[in-house]
Amino acid sequence: MNTQGASSHPPRGHRAAPSETPAFADLDLCTDLLDALRDKGYETPTPIQAQAIPHLLDGRDLLGIAQTGTGKTAAFALPMLDLLDENYKRPRAGRPRALILTPTRELASQINENFEGYGKHLNMRSAVIFGGVSQNPQVRALKQGLDILVATPGRLLDLMGQKHVSFEDVEIFVLDEADRMLDMGFLRDVRRVIERLPRRRQSLLFSATMPKDIATLARSILKDPVRVEVTPPSTTVERIKQHLCFVDKQDKSRLLKEILKDESIKRVLVFSRTKHGANRIAGVLESAGIHAAAIHGNKSQGARERALASFRAGEIRVLVATDIAARGIDVRDITHVINFDLPNEPESYVHRIGRTARAGREGVAISFCDPSERGDLRDIERLTGQEIERMTVELPPGRGQSMERPGARRGGGGRSGGGRAGRSGGSGRSSSSGGGGRGRGRRSSGGGSSGGSSAGGTSSKGRSRNRRRGRGTSAPPR
Ligand code: AMP
Repeated sequence: MNTQGASSHPPRGHRAAPSETPAFADLDLCTDLLDALRDKGYETPTPIQAQAIPHLLDGRDLLGIAQTGTGKTAAFALPMLDLLDENYKRPRAGRPRALILTPTRELASQINENFEGYGKHLNMRSAVIFGGVSQNPQVRALKQGLDILVATPGRLLDLMGQKHVSFEDVEIFVLDEADRMLDMGFLRDVRRVIERLPRRRQSLLFSATMPKDIATLARSILKDPVRVEVTPPSTTVERIKQHLCFVDKQDKSRLLKEILKDESIKRVLVFSRTKHGANRIAGVLESAGIHAAAIHGNKSQGARERALASFRAGEIRVLVATDIAARGIDVRDITHVINFDLPNEPESYVHRIGRTARAGREGVAISFCDPSERGDLRDIERLTGQEIERMTVELPPGRGQSMERPGARRGGGGRSGGGRAGRSGGSGRSSSSGGGGRGRGRRSSGGGSSGGSSAGGTSSKGRSRNRRRGRGTSAPPR
């Protein structure tokens, strides 16, 4: 622990010109923070960090359009710690100096861990508050006085109602994942918290997307904000090898098990559209001897944390999650993301696959698409401006039928697959069909990451369609 003092803080105003890629040392952060970053092994700021940190150190409000995985937590945590330390005041009981509101418990815990990690050489107290657990330790932490409070809205309002916490000393306020707050129905709670904040404060709002309600909320809480936008749909997506398997709905479990026979697939996050589906998939895998657990909103906090810890420790190979539960999970080294179901919202596809390839690493995403999901696939390819590469996995004999995209050309050589355009009749084998393992989906000629480029259409004209074939083997991509 360090005693507070301004000696660690450099004079402001000696920054790299905006066009240069700065180093952390160029960002005017105090040396205690630079030391913590060095300990963590971070070498250069991510784009959102490089863009946001100087403005935040200047005390500006900020609208950040960015999702988890871009390094946005450090983008706000580092300048907050710096500012709170530079103007240090001993926090009063129940009156935090900084408040971060975030939608899920997992995200709240991770943000708090980040504050603890970055602030380890500073003398800052932080705590996390969320529902589903006893409030007593949280109340005790508040009583001791906190510099930084990370909270989900429901429990925070409870504690506010009981007068355990008040916001009159809040100097910096962060609303994180604002669009997810909206999706989860928390916006009213969020507004109730905001009403209690002092007028004089620095405010930051982060959101992956900017629906109308969030734009309105941003206007009401931010004063002359700097807008910082990072666009992961192209940057993140490009680092991820993406593959698509057409498959009948009833064959999805068999396809998943087949793919997981490849032991190089070490740490896998599987997405299910529903909680029930997540449980079922985890059950199917467990009965096949593959260590798996499901996390979703119906699981207790303890069960979710245990599952996450086992997944992080490598004791569980497959974590099956719904979108909301997976949001914000910070597990490094996820080698593969598998979309058992395609998401209805194309943005969710980008969020999901962004769970792999974190912090500059490469990753692999495999998506299953049954006939009812073709529209979702079209929307996804339109958003990313990229056709997802088709792959084939031969399934062992079973009940199912194979499915191929109507109008797809047949690959040369190998097994004929007996009537593979459309449903194959009664071969007793089932396969998903499509492209091979080499080459990436082409970028659409339409440019940009969204909009009506031809890449999103259903026509197969003009698309590269490599194929992988293998008799009785699965050849999942690495
Ligand atoms: P976030 O978007 O805040 O969830 O961060 C995504 C991941 O990137 C987390 O595991 C961070 O620890 C890591 N990270 C954040 N900033 C950097 C950086 N500048 N260099 C390397 N890793 C980072």
